[in-house]
Amino acid sequence: MTTETKKFNERLGGHLTELLECAGISGKLATPRLLYGLTAEFPCVAVVGLGESAEQTVDDAENVHQGRENVRHAVASGVTALRDVQCSHVTVEPTEHAEASAEGAHLALWSYDELKAEADRQRPVQLSCAGGDSELWRRGALKASGQNLARTLMEAPANYLTPTLFSLSRRPCLRCRWEVVVRDEAWIRQRGMGAFLSVSRGSAEPPRFLELSYSGAGAGAAPLAVVGKGVTFDSGGISLKPAKNMDTMRADMGGAACTVGVLYAAAQLGLAANLRAFIPLCENMPGSRATKPGDVVTAMNGKTVQVDNTDAEGRLILADALCYAQECRPRAMLNMATLTGAISVALGSAAVGVFTNSTAAWHQLRAAGTNTGDRVWRMPLWKHYTKSMKECRLADLNNIGSATGGGACTAAAFLQEFVAEDLPWLHVDIAGTMENTTDVPYLSKGMSGRPTRTVLEFAEAICQQGSR
Ligand SMILES: [Zn+2]
Repeated sequence: MTTETKKFNERLGGHLTELLECAGISGKLATPRLLYGLTAEFPCVAVVGLGESAEQTVDDAENVHQGRENVRHAVASGVTALRDVQCSHVTVEPTEHAEASAEGAHLALWSYDELKAEADRQRPVQLSCAGGDSELWRRGALKASGQNLARTLMEAPANYLTPTLFSLSRRPCLRCRWEVVVRDEAWIRQRGMGAFLSVSRGSAEPPRFLELSYSGAGAGAAPLAVVGKGVTFDSGGISLKPAKNMDTMRADMGGAACTVGVLYAAAQLGLAANLRAFIPLCENMPGSRATKPGDVVTAMNGKTVQVDNTDAEGRLILADALCYAQECRPRAMLNMATLTGAISVALGSAAVGVFTNSTAAWHQLRAAGTNTGDRVWRMPLWKHYTKSMKECRLADLNNIGSATGGGACTAAAFLQEFVAEDLPWLHVDIAGTMENTTDVPYLSKGMSGRPTRTVLEFAEAICQQGSR
């Protein structure tokens, strides 16, 4: 029993130990039992098992800290059980992993129902930590709030979150030193971002380029650049997608949403890190001015691209954003994008795919994923795939590979053409983890906001090193 558990037991009149025994829940993970009438202070108590004690450490084969993951799952099942019986205020026993406990509780209660009638919405639940909100509890709650912000942005309908509305929704945050700059179409043209503009051509909604910066480590420290794909709706363009499930393409700005979530949480936490975010925002639509298969466009670094498939648009907007992001002389650069269906074929929803030219940066991201439970898996960035992108009839590069298979790898090879060789760079393909059904038990159903917490931890770790 932790000290907090002992105190909690006292507040329950010393009943906790006997309840645990007679309810027979010891070892059973996340099966809440609701107990009524124990004390006046807590009229309803959810008791939840944390799993076997053997599961309390890092599982190397699974690349996860199973103990923390069990806490997230158990606390989530407890707070949702209490919400479902109309509790409006829940006090959570923090366990020995207070941060994971706060994450599980706050992530589980997220819902997107603001467009529904009031009677059909989830009732708000106020959360607090037994024994007072500790620093670790607060940290977990803020990390979860970053991910929840990403989920809300991803879930929002595309007509409620156009490129313009997305950029306007990121107001300056005075308390947390977060600066916002919104660039318009004329600026994008003037910077020579021809690949980005070619994607927005088919839509009546003008593109935007959003820049966020957070300085928590002083002016001298080189920042981490975070780039997020912000296609607020992806119809596929002239290479139109099938109608089935096309509605989920409102979340094709998942990379942008997670980027905002990372900076928001970093700023709220006062992280000792300098972060710069670069977010190209546009719609991919088949309007009469839309880019056509076979068109050739010129990216910011002068490379020409033959666009043979207009649905491979994420790499086009990222190409220019990656070029521009390097102007801030970052210590490292990470981009997140719902880039390819192929990454979903390879990994399912178990992990995001990571392509990187830096093994040191990879180890840091992997360690972050083990800790947060939101895992990452390294994929190859080989010349084999670059060759497939360079076999192009009219231009330097084609936007789809000439070979069949390996679609996530050829997309990564394409992006690498726009990154300096000596810059540690990580491309994170998040298409496979975009949506949560029941795979992650502590995330409610809907858009996932993954891997916001992992990238946040990575940002903290990499910014603690001296400048490169
Ligand atoms: Zn697409």
